[in-house]
Amino acid sequence: MIARDTFYIGGKWVEPSGRQTIDVHNAGTGAVMGRVPAGSEKDADAAVAAARAALEGWARTPVEQRAAVLEKISAGLKARADELAKLIAQEVGMPIKLAGRIQAGLPIANFANYAKLVRELSFEERVGNSLVVREPVGVVVAITPWNYPLHQIALKVAPALAAGCTVVLKPSEVAPFNAFVLAEVIEAAGLPQGVFNLVTGYGPAVGEALVRHPGVDMISFTGSTRAGKRISELAAQGVKRVALELGGKSPSVILDDADLAAAVKSTVNACYLNSGQTCTALTRMLVPASKYEEAKRIAAEVANAFTLGDPLAETTKLGPLTSAAQLERVRGYIRKGLEEGAELVAGGAEPPQDVPAGGYFVKPTVFGRVKPGSTIEQEEIFGPVLSIITYKDEEEAIRIANDTPYGLAGAVWGKDEARAQQIARRIRAGQVDVNGGAFNMNAPFGGFKQSGHGREAGVYGLEEFLEYKSLQLKG
Ligand code: NAD
Repeated sequence: MIARDTFYIGGKWVEPSGRQTIDVHNAGTGAVMGRVPAGSEKDADAAVAAARAALEGWARTPVEQRAAVLEKISAGLKARADELAKLIAQEVGMPIKLAGRIQAGLPIANFANYAKLVRELSFEERVGNSLVVREPVGVVVAITPWNYPLHQIALKVAPALAAGCTVVLKPSEVAPFNAFVLAEVIEAAGLPQGVFNLVTGYGPAVGEALVRHPGVDMISFTGSTRAGKRISELAAQGVKRVALELGGKSPSVILDDADLAAAVKSTVNACYLNSGQTCTALTRMLVPASKYEEAKRIAAEVANAFTLGDPLAETTKLGPLTSAAQLERVRGYIRKGLEEGAELVAGGAEPPQDVPAGGYFVKPTVFGRVKPGSTIEQEEIFGPVLSIITYKDEEEAIRIANDTPYGLAGAVWGKDEARAQQIARRIRAGQVDVNGGAFNMNAPFGGFKQSGHGREAGVYGLEEFLEYKSLQLKG
């Protein structure tokens, strides 16, 4: 049992104001693996006061010193990478090998990358008689989800610290332990007191208290569109800067000249990554009507080859969902797909066989002939559920691809690269992969439409935490 019973505020591990705690469950077994404090408004006040007090000193700390601390944090995380991978595999359910590469690997890389990027950034430029300087936004509240918990944290905390901001982190109550490891690493790296603060608890309680707090300048949020809307409303009362990374329902458009087997295989893999609990998951596969039967056969074959199992086992390809609530939600959507008349090609809502008892497992599922506009085609399911949709011509494919409230990601597949790129440009989303182009940690990441606004990653993510100031000079 992991018992975390203090918050990291003002450089010290302090008792929470109340006694309420939140149980954290092991996704692979359903058992309680530990607990964290449920913070209150008082805890939010203490954390913001500490961040406010530390702001001026950190903002004026030379860039080189800030970069050096980020490098130390990266090294500290690296030293604890195996522990982090194991922890997150249990909190989230991602298979251990992948958790090591992605859940632990990306935060290590991002902290180091922001040390490099902030050293390269030009903080001043002359424009006519003005000196334009870049300054940190101020006190940042970072609120993060559970699916890639430490990665989402790193994409906010690393650039915010690099920019000279101070931070209050409120991680997901579903997967919070990794954030405590980060706080220990930050403490050991020698970051000045109050520059980074950690509180845990429920969104509507401590989360909203932080968002409303007059001492906060910016909220950087990753999570559901529902919570993002609420946070925007609250932040608007204080005219605070808000960056939102929200949900998705991303299309994979397979053109008639594409290598169908490769495109379908990649799409299913991208849909099922982290058991479908990936904001950029390619959950809608668009195929020419004439290729439907073949696409369906390949998709079923790929889906059925996913071995479900204990996330800590090296052979597991598909872990459980993260929580009991997710399991109910995803099964509900599978039943909805059947009700809506979609063709069940693989999987289904009934519990899978031969999986560890108590874990939140769902069958890898593929629906065919999914109707544009139906619930499973429009709403984010956040589970391993792929919808195959057929189209007549290119224009119809683009229309269907764009016809959801979201615009986070997408993919296009076609032999004619120029044509594929043209179609990628017409998809209204923040990231579109062309013919399986690889993930790039320096490319801007974020959404169009209700997938949010603002960009994370690379230098774009650093600029989110900076203000411009113009000094009008006489000579
Ligand atoms: P969620 O919105 O329920 O919770 C996210 C965080 O917000 C948690 O820390 C939660 O405690 C907090 N929160 C919830 N309500 C709040 C409120 N009213 N005020 C303040 N804080 C509040 O989301 P989740 O279930 O943790 O994560 C899944 C969602 O996140 C999915 O929709 C997914 O697409 C999205 N997501 C988006 C990205 C991206 O980069 N675009 C990345 C990962 C996940």
